[in-house]
Amino acid sequence: MRLPFFLAKRFVAGETFADAVPKAKELNSKGLKLTLDLLGENIKDRKTTDKTTQAYCDLLDGIREQELDASISIKLTMLGLDIDKEYCRDNLDKLLEKAKERDLFVRIDMEGSDYTQMTFDLYYDALEKWGKKVGIVIQAYLHRTRDDIDELIERQANVRICKGAYKEPSNIALQNMADIRTAFKEYTTRLIEAANYPRIATHDDILIEWIRSHVRENNVPKQRFEFQMLYGLRQNTCEFLAQKGYPVRIYMPFGTEWLPYYSRRLRERKENVWFILTTMFKK
Ligand SMILES: Cc1cc2nc3c(=O)[nH]c(=O)nc-3n(C[C@H](O)[C@H](O)[C@H](O)COP(=O)(O)OP(=O)(O)OC[C@H]3O[C@@H](n4cnc5c(N)ncnc54)[C@H](O)[C@@H]3O)c2cc1C
Repeated sequence: MRLPFFLAKRFVAGETFADAVPKAKELNSKGLKLTLDLLGENIKDRKTTDKTTQAYCDLLDGIREQELDASISIKLTMLGLDIDKEYCRDNLDKLLEKAKERDLFVRIDMEGSDYTQMTFDLYYDALEKWGKKVGIVIQAYLHRTRDDIDELIERQANVRICKGAYKEPSNIALQNMADIRTAFKEYTTRLIEAANYPRIATHDDILIEWIRSHVRENNVPKQRFEFQMLYGLRQNTCEFLAQKGYPVRIYMPFGTEWLPYYSRRLRERKENVWFILTTMFKK
């Protein structure tokens, strides 16, 4: 059974790229850059994976044709990581070839901990082959991030830092918000010092205010990093930060396979569940 799209529309820009384009143009016109994300994860068959790889390539063409200020984010389980690692690598290469042709950037989202090592392996190979066209995500809640970050800085990787959205056990990840915030601050400090233009993905006012005062006190130029937030959350904050001169990018998902993404957003905040319920009763 497919749930009706109106449930998802707070967090998802549409079911097709064409639906998302007007919203994308509106955000671009406010000085906000975009990361477009064709929704879906964990594809188990090659036919659907091949179609998805092609859809990502078409998305890169669409971004150029529509003259959007946008990059894309992908999940390796959409490119066949659950089927075969080498097959996934070939699909990633196809996509990065297209990104190079179109002079566009592709970020590999970080999924649950079963995929972390494989994602780093494929990313580091892609970084050697395709250089600046590809980036990765680190999750502050993972214990291993303390070591991963050294290697990422060493390799001058293009990194987005976020807290981490998947339910992980305590031997793998921090469980409490205060500890996750402390780790987030420590890693962000290192990225701002040493990495090439880090992307800082959070809606958390405590972290946003901390970053703003940290860079002010340390004379870090606002153009040295970028704030990133999800479509449908904190748009006023995004516009406020952009007006203050910080680069800001909105992660804009679209597509019919929105349920897992949508469920993670609901789990993150009780207020989101309330919002959906009131939307349902307005219909
Ligand atoms: C651009 C982007 C890309 C991401 N990519 C990945 C990825 O590849 N892999 C992954 O695992 N996760 C990813 N995430 C999700 C991320 O890991 C977190 O799960 C998600 O961002 C929630 O954490 P948070 O820091 O934004 O704030 P939360 O932990 O949701 O909120 C913390 C506090 O922030 C304040 N706050 C938050 N929202 C609001 C609001 N609407 N109004 C008022 N106060 C608010 C509240 O004080 C709240 O208690 C991404 C997130 C972003 C923004």
